[in-house]
Amino acid sequence: MKIICIGRNYVEHIEELNNERPKAPVIFIKPDSAVLPKEQDFYIPDFSNDIHYEVEVLVKIKKVGKHIAAKFAHKYYDEIGLGIDFTARDLQSELKGKGLPWEKAKGFDGAAVIGKWLPKERFSDLGNLNFSLKKNDVTVQEGNTGAMLYGIDDIIAYVSQFFTLKKGDVLFTGTPKGVGRVVANDYLSGSLENETLFTVNIK
Ligand code: ZN
Repeated sequence: MKIICIGRNYVEHIEELNNERPKAPVIFIKPDSAVLPKEQDFYIPDFSNDIHYEVEVLVKIKKVGKHIAAKFAHKYYDEIGLGIDFTARDLQSELKGKGLPWEKAKGFDGAAVIGKWLPKERFSDLGNLNFSLKKNDVTVQEGNTGAMLYGIDDIIAYVSQFFTLKKGDVLFTGTPKGVGRVVANDYLSGSLENETLFTVNIK
């Protein structure tokens, strides 16, 4: 199983990090070892002093496909979720500055939180899903999938030109504005359409 992530998919988040608006989706991959095991606490790694949360809507791929047309993309998933793309922002900035790949900053152990999955039929419009992240019971990120530069079906069409999608692969669709730091003893909880799909304790 692989995790394919989209960067810079919400304009206000692009602005908060002073990034350029992309002409095509920005893609990166996390290895399967990045998945934080269910019910496990997140331990801040000793190579970073600036771990950021990024709440993101997730899509689970249900069958193999490549060169998928956007109009058929809906046939390749039937579950929607919510997760966190943990990012070592200090390390990422250093690597970006040198023009090097981000993997160490995004693909480390525990850097992918994957919450509970919900059937997509639960939602009448996947292009209008509200989601949010709370830190210590205070809302820090709020988003709506309608604000994505590239929607789910467009992401699948684009990504599948480069990577064969396989059953069980997970797409992280990008984060809205409001990313920020976590420190030990923080507590995060993420909700999609008012249903809590994950909670994480930071250690
Ligand atoms: Zn992200």
